[in-house]
Amino acid sequence: MKWKHVSDHAGKLEAWVVLKMSAWAVRGDDGIYIVDTGLSFMSPRLLKEAEKLGPVKGILLTHGHLDHVGGLKKLLKKRRLAVYAHEKEIPYAEGSLPYPGRKKPEKIVPAGTLTPLPEEDGELLPIAGLQPVFTPGHTPGHVCYYEPESRVMITGDLFTSKKGQLNRPIPMFTADMDQAIKSADLLREYDIDILSICHGEDVAEGNEALAQYRENMDR
Ligand SMILES: [Zn+2]
Ligand SMILES: [Zn+2]
Repeated sequence: MKWKHVSDHAGKLEAWVVLKMSAWAVRGDDGIYIVDTGLSFMSPRLLKEAEKLGPVKGILLTHGHLDHVGGLKKLLKKRRLAVYAHEKEIPYAEGSLPYPGRKKPEKIVPAGTLTPLPEEDGELLPIAGLQPVFTPGHTPGHVCYYEPESRVMITGDLFTSKKGQLNRPIPMFTADMDQAIKSADLLREYDIDILSICHGEDVAEGNEALAQYRENMDR
């Protein structure tokens, strides 16, 4: 496992299990937020690294796939923290609906664990200055998180990456690829230096990379 500096306000824990798995810690206005938890074995190190940066105030989820929430159980045993996800993701992650393309619902996290991200008039509100961006497609309630001070966009599984360029999310695990590709455009209204990617290397010059991705997908 490797802890990586993403920016002055964000770090990323990377592990290899068949493919790269990542989880993040990001600085908000009032302390540190863990973004996704990785697989179970990653969470003790993630908490340790996050707490080196400051007091941990909460957990934000990009979506509810096991490789993003597998560490929740251990984390919540050690610290009492609110865990936020998009309201639309919660029934899938907590097992009242099957993820699209799956036969059976799965209780990936126990019912009642997740708190809906706050919304007003259908718009997601920032949490401690961190802006969630609703980017459905990979899953119905997938969210990215924008850290405005260092202009980092944590993109969960909205993309993979190859040779410094954005690539499509993993098709086998993506509910609606067309929607996921369209959702990428929603990031273009932010000023982005780094697109941080779960299953791949981070991508610099975010806005240029997004424009290039759009061009590649249109071909
Ligand atoms: Zn996923
Ligand atoms: Zn994933």
